[in-house]
Amino acid sequence: MSFYLGIDFGTSGVRAIVIDAEKTVLFESQESFTLSKLSSLANNWQVALCNQIQQIPTHLKREIIAVAIDGTSSTVLLCDATGNPVTEPILYNDARGIDNLDIIKKVAPPQHTVLSSTSSLAKLLWWQNLYPEPLYFLHQADWLAFLLHGKLGISDYHNALKLGYDVEQLNYPEWLQKLDLNFHLPEVVTPGTPIGKVQKDVAETLGLSPNCLVCAGTTDSIAAFLASGANAVGEAVTSLGSTLAVKLLSQTKIDDAKYGIYSHRLGDLWLVGGASNTGGAVLKEFFTDEELESLSQKINPSQASTLDYYPLIKAGDRFPINDPNLPPRLEPHPSNPVEFLHGLLESIARIEARGYHLLQQLGANPLKCVYTAGGGAKNYVWTQIRARNLQVSVLPSRHLQAAYGTALLAMQGTEANFSTALV
Ligand code: ADP
Repeated sequence: MSFYLGIDFGTSGVRAIVIDAEKTVLFESQESFTLSKLSSLANNWQVALCNQIQQIPTHLKREIIAVAIDGTSSTVLLCDATGNPVTEPILYNDARGIDNLDIIKKVAPPQHTVLSSTSSLAKLLWWQNLYPEPLYFLHQADWLAFLLHGKLGISDYHNALKLGYDVEQLNYPEWLQKLDLNFHLPEVVTPGTPIGKVQKDVAETLGLSPNCLVCAGTTDSIAAFLASGANAVGEAVTSLGSTLAVKLLSQTKIDDAKYGIYSHRLGDLWLVGGASNTGGAVLKEFFTDEELESLSQKINPSQASTLDYYPLIKAGDRFPINDPNLPPRLEPHPSNPVEFLHGLLESIARIEARGYHLLQQLGANPLKCVYTAGGGAKNYVWTQIRARNLQVSVLPSRHLQAAYGTALLAMQGTEANFSTALV
């Protein structure tokens, strides 16, 4: 039997999923890790990784022939030549690299995704001022995979996008070399590429087969896309969590730093995405999850609300409206909570539709259908409101867990033609 293991490291927890060759889930587990003490975070990740693997029943674990790990995009760390972290990790949302943006602007193409205070490159430059010695710069997923295969300095082109890796030419571009980086940058491979077998002693400790392959990973949001079931041009995934993120599979690559739009390579296609600050966090300000559930049942989804909000927690959005000072618009506030919720759901749906419209305006293929992930996916009334605004069918993601997408990636890594396939 051949089984595949996907491990998803999100911002606050880890989840593992084992699937068989028919893509059926055989086992699933999860645990949280604390973010409070950054100095022990890498160690917490390592412990969580081992726990997740050790928990898999032995009869399944011995049949796992490939494993892949996804991590939070732009969560990075520095290691010495033996792979020991020499710094605490810098997390995905840490903007300490902001002062380096002027340096990056001088060399990077104008619309490049590295032009963000939270990009991996901005973080690397922040460290470069502190550590003159040539250390190894890795993403969270790279380091965790290293713990299994033991080869230091390997990444995948999803994680490496925000480091400046050229995903079209498949090399580090000349402009990056102008920055005179003194760290060892990872060798970058296609997500899913088999890197090597699990180290013998690690396999023994964790109970894995010594023949189990460790494949290159991806980022958590791409893993969630892979899990959704979307895999054809024009298919998209909206993530309705605390914020709203959209990703549309397109033949055209689109990068527009103004709107924070960038494209990940997926086989021969491009996954074009943008993210708005609107979303479930605003709903949470006014309603409990139970109220969202019960009040939604009282909304007639076929009728458009005339309330026109721009729901935000605080001023500013980038996509689909680029205005750092855009004020939250939540007035008028009707006394009837059903009407108010209808207005909020309708308005977020309009912002989602405007987002997809913008991607198409900038050259993405026409939208054909939308899968949905995140806490808002379970709201069927909202789904109908969104379908009316989007004018395409809206479906729940086939699998909600990013770890499932990463297990598919591990499976793909064992197939001969994996580099051009879409899982
Ligand atoms: P995160 O981005 O924090 O991981 P989740 O994907 O867990 O978010 O989704 C949480 C969000 O889902 C919350 O902000 C909450 O408002 C929203 N949510 C929960 N239940 C519902 C519901 N029935 N309808 C709409 N939104 C919901």
